[in-house]
Amino acid sequence: MTREQPEPSISSRVTRAFTWTLVLVAASAVLTTASFAVDLLVFDRRSAALHEARRGARMAHEGMLDEETALRAWLVMRDPKYLDPMRNAQQEIEEGHAVLDEMVGADRDVAPQLLESRLAEQGWQTAWARVAEAVQPGDPPTAEPFFAGGKALFDVYRGRESKLTDSLRAASDATDRAQGRMLGAAALVQLTLFVVLGLFARSQRRLIRNTLEHPLDALLAAMHRVRDGDLTTAIPVDGPSELRQIGADLGHMTRALAAAAAESARLHQVAVERSHIDGLTRLLNRHRLDEDLAAECRRSARYARPLAVIMMDVDHFKTFNDAHGHPAGDVVLQSVAEVLRLNVRATDSAYRYGGEEFLVLLRETDEVGAAMLAERLRAALERTLSRQTAGQGVTASFGVAQYGESRALPGPLVEAADRALYRAKHAGRNRVVVASAA
Ligand code: GH3
Ligand code: MG
Ligand code: MG
Repeated sequence: MTREQPEPSISSRVTRAFTWTLVLVAASAVLTTASFAVDLLVFDRRSAALHEARRGARMAHEGMLDEETALRAWLVMRDPKYLDPMRNAQQEIEEGHAVLDEMVGADRDVAPQLLESRLAEQGWQTAWARVAEAVQPGDPPTAEPFFAGGKALFDVYRGRESKLTDSLRAASDATDRAQGRMLGAAALVQLTLFVVLGLFARSQRRLIRNTLEHPLDALLAAMHRVRDGDLTTAIPVDGPSELRQIGADLGHMTRALAAAAAESARLHQVAVERSHIDGLTRLLNRHRLDEDLAAECRRSARYARPLAVIMMDVDHFKTFNDAHGHPAGDVVLQSVAEVLRLNVRATDSAYRYGGEEFLVLLRETDEVGAAMLAERLRAALERTLSRQTAGQGVTASFGVAQYGESRALPGPLVEAADRALYRAKHAGRNRVVVASAA
């Protein structure tokens, strides 16, 4: 199994892309300059030299033709005016030779042809032209064999000259073809470089989209979810090292925020609970009773459901407190609370009303049911407290009242139960009195 390589950083990616682009552009520039230089310094020069050489050859050849024509006319007519074009022709030949001699250095391949042609030319010049020129007007007519000999020598010259011209043309054509090939190859390489550059740019674009834009989009989307309050969002740690670092840091921050929010919610919950729970007995407190009683009274009124309360007060508690001290009294109050907790149903609620007074709220229960529960509580407390207080006579008295027309509000309902409790105290304590029974 191969582990995936982590993405390189943005800066190294940018540096690499820049370097490659630079290399490709530089290669293209070098190639353009080199092909331009080679074209100019090698091919153009050589081509111009060969062109010039061909002009020289043509000039010399035309001079030779003129000279030959003039000498023949002289030999036949013996009129000196026919020798007039000779000077021009010889000058043309000399100029042509000068051009050729200078330019032939451009191509060594044509040197042998030039030499051959020059030798044939000199052969004709010395063996025939100079002899013909030396003939005097009064000399006897020139014999036919001399003409034939001159023609033979001139034909040799013609053949050699035509070879020289052919080889100069061939060299010129070869140069043009080589130049064409070089320029074509340079253009092809240049085109290839442009295609490579284009493909490289496209691959960079795709790379940036996949490795930079996509992770950045995912990061932004996650950030927006966090901003909108979703602290459970998983922050993506993806892409180049800089983005991964941002993702990791953002993840830390989000988790810290989530932990702080959870702690704050927990503290809030604790505060809410504390505001509703009595510290000593862990029963619901008076504050909570007020809320619950108001809600239950409204519910009873709307749905015509029964509702009852039991008010309870510990008997002779002051005496116990005085005899055993406040801390012992606290323990007794905690035992009372425990008895209440164990005996009321899940739908009922027990509250510490204040001091050693308690109240039980009974939903869906009428006076009769409430009186039965009160009696059960009284008996249970009698048992528990007589054990705990070693027969000190600590018991509890109960007043029961039911929600009704005259007790449709929390105040009157509790007052009714309180009055019943008062009567229970007066009747001798440790007993239950129902409000409607009075
Ligand atoms: P009765 O039978 O008439 O109710 O007599 P009693 O002594 O219980 O009546 P009283 O109301 O005079 O006394 C109540 C006592 O309850 C007074 C107070 O010291 C005690 N008490 C109130 N709250 C607490 C408490 O939180 N802890 C303790 N240990 N005692 C408390
Ligand atoms: Mg009391
Ligand atoms: Mg009391």
